[in-house]
Amino acid sequence: MSGGVTRMMFLCPHCQGKAKTRSSKAMTRTLREVIYQCDDPECGHSFVVHAEAVRTLSPSARPDPSVHLPQSPQALALAAARNAAHQRPAAEPSGALA
Ligand SMILES: [Zn+2]
Repeated sequence: MSGGVTRMMFLCPHCQGKAKTRSSKAMTRTLREVIYQCDDPECGHSFVVHAEAVRTLSPSARPDPSVHLPQSPQALALAAARNAAHQRPAAEPSGALA
């Protein structure tokens, strides 16, 4: 395989061996169903994994209005901190010592 595509590695839930992707299909814009097969010939387990986009870390510059992904708590906290930093007046010493 070429093109620099990185496949998600998954371990077999039974023997913890490496499992390989056999096929995958898009279920929705945010959900993909992936069929994996365990590499261990003595195990041979095949199973289905759901790979789902669940939240936004950094917003898209080309957003699709039909896609609704919540902001991660970390992204919201970062945005709030940036806004606070822009709105906070420069800290000055009060000069009043009590
Ligand atoms: Zn296995």
